Order: sequence, then structure tokens, then C-alpha cells
Amino acid sequence: MNLEKFERYPLTFGPTPIEHLPRLSDALGGKVQIYAKREDCNSGLAFGGNKLRKLEYIVPDAIASGADTLVSIGGVQSNHTRMVAATAAKIGMKCVVVQEKWVPHYDAVYDRVGNILLTRLMGADSRLVDDGFDIGIRKSWEDAMDSVRDAGGVPYGIPAGASVHKYGGLGYVGFAEEVKAQEAELGFKFDYIIVCVVTGSTQAGMIVGFAAQDRADRVIGIDASGTLEQTRAQVRQIVDQTAEIVELGRRVSDGEIVINPDYAYPAYGVPSEETNDAIRLAAKTEAMITDPVYEGKSMQGMIDLVRKGQFEDGAKVLYAHLGGAPALNGYSYYYKDG
Ligand SMILES: *Cc1c(COP(=O)(O)O)cnc(C)c1O
Repeated sequence: MNLEKFERYPLTFGPTPIEHLPRLSDALGGKVQIYAKREDCNSGLAFGGNKLRKLEYIVPDAIASGADTLVSIGGVQSNHTRMVAATAAKIGMKCVVVQEKWVPHYDAVYDRVGNILLTRLMGADSRLVDDGFDIGIRKSWEDAMDSVRDAGGVPYGIPAGASVHKYGGLGYVGFAEEVKAQEAELGFKFDYIIVCVVTGSTQAGMIVGFAAQDRADRVIGIDASGTLEQTRAQVRQIVDQTAEIVELGRRVSDGEIVINPDYAYPAYGVPSEETNDAIRLAAKTEAMITDPVYEGKSMQGMIDLVRKGQFEDGAKVLYAHLGGAPALNGYSYYYKDG
């Protein structure tokens, strides 16, 4: 495998810390030890998160293209568009982000706080449109690209979640190599890695990276999209494309792509009561803040799988915390009593 041949523009602090979560582990019976890899603390750029690890491999291509404007798309409370806005500010480009009504959640300040507030603060032109949830490439995104061209600019398009970009999977190939190096320092290996999946390149990159270590099937994706077939197909496609460009040297089998659909209910962007309980438990035991759209659902999934005895006694589970806490502000009523 060869990741080094790709240019990387640093947007993160470097390797992210791995933190033991003893009080959460105890609260779940103490038979399984839970750790978190803190991708949510990976950068000083606008609170960071998983999208920056992907964008590090996309920025060199954007600069080389001669673009002056990054164009991307997401929901109203998109972490991804926040991270694209941050990247544009940091590299001195303009930014247009289309923010669609992906989420059937109604809150008086939903489009004023959290991610979208930060996105606007960093100077991005944030455009609210009415279209519903879809992780694919959208007409509204093509329209935004055209509008930049019409104004004499040079757009560089970054798809939702930076996922179906040709280099979208590379960042999380690097994650797997980083975990391996950290395991050597810790003196033990993780038995399972839990990761939230929606647009797919985070898990897909991990799968390719861990496939090189023959343990891709230990990466358990917890779907938060609620559109399992589309997400699975997108992960499959990104795995294949990424495996090819990093020269993994073999096909990843379907059995190495593990996605659990059980926690995405009731809908993308809407937390269930169990999601909210998981968010509360992580916050109260470890002061680890997760959000109602993504990480709260993967936290819920991990908690439920531990409680059900899905992991053998003594197992070490690594929860990939991908970020996203700013979105909590758009859901404040759920947590008015904690
Ligand atoms: C985007 C995002 C995810 C999902 O990652 P994908 O690569 O889109 O599957 C999970 N958690 C957070 C906080 C995110 O911002």
C-alpha cells in the first residue's frame, strides 16, 4: 500500500489522542474496555472533526486546479460545510456552501446557531435551499458551481461529506496506520473499532487502511443515514476506488464491510430517546460530548452492543469520535433538563 505518494496539506494538529474511558466502561458492566480516538479534537480550525482529515488530501488538488472558490453541500447543520468553510478561510479561498433541508427537525434557531453560525462567521456564502436528504451529487450543487463561474470565479467542487471525491477516502486510510503506530506504543491492540457512517468515506478509508492489516471486518460502521442500501453502495464504491489508488493489491470482500443499520431510527438528523440517553451517558461519565445526528447514534450503537454482550469479555473497543458537537445547539430543547 502506498499513501505517501499523495500530497497532504496539513489542516490538523497531527495524530489524534486515544483516551481511555474507564467510567463509561464501568457503567456498561466493566467487561469491555472502551477507548476513544479523539478526531473531534484534531484541529484548531473551527472545532475540527473528521472532514478535515479528508480535506487534507483534497486541498492540494484544489490549489493545483487554479480554483479560487470551494463549493460544497450539506444539511442546514452540516459539520462538513463548516469544515469546508474553515478550510477555505485557512487557505485564502472563497467558499459557497449549499445547505439543504435534510433533517425533519424544527427548532426556532436551527438555521442560526451551531455549525451554520460558524460557517457564516468564517465568511462562507451559505445558501439555504429546500431539497431533502440525499448523499449523492445534487442539482443545487451544480447550480452553485455555475453561479461561481457566472460571476467570473473558478469553483472547486467538494461533494457531500467529501466522500465521492477521488481522494475522499485517503484521510482515513491514514487513520488506520496511525492506530497501528499508537497500538505499538500502548502495547495492546484494539479488537473493534466503532465508527458512524453516512456519506461513507470515513469508514471506507478505515476499511482500506485496516484491510492492509487484515482486520477490516473489525471496523463496525453504525449507520446514521437511515438509507442503508445507498450508504452501503457508496462505501463499497469508495473502498474499491481508494484500494486501487493506494495499491492495496487485492479486492476487499463484502464481508469486510460491516454496517449496522439498527440505530439510525427515526430518521437522519433526528435523535431517538435512546440516542439522547447515550449522549447523556457519555457526557455524564466522561464529559465526552456527542451530537444527536452522528456520534450520538454511534455511541448508542456501541452502548447497546456492549450491553447485549456482542463483544467478548476483555475486549478493547475503540470508539472513533468524529466531531459534530456544534450541532447540539440546534437541538437544545431535548436537553433542557440535561
Ligand atoms: C460527516 C460526519 C460523520 C459521517 O462520516 P461520513 O464520512 O460522511 O460517513 C460522522 N460524524 C460526524 C460528526 C460527521 O461530521
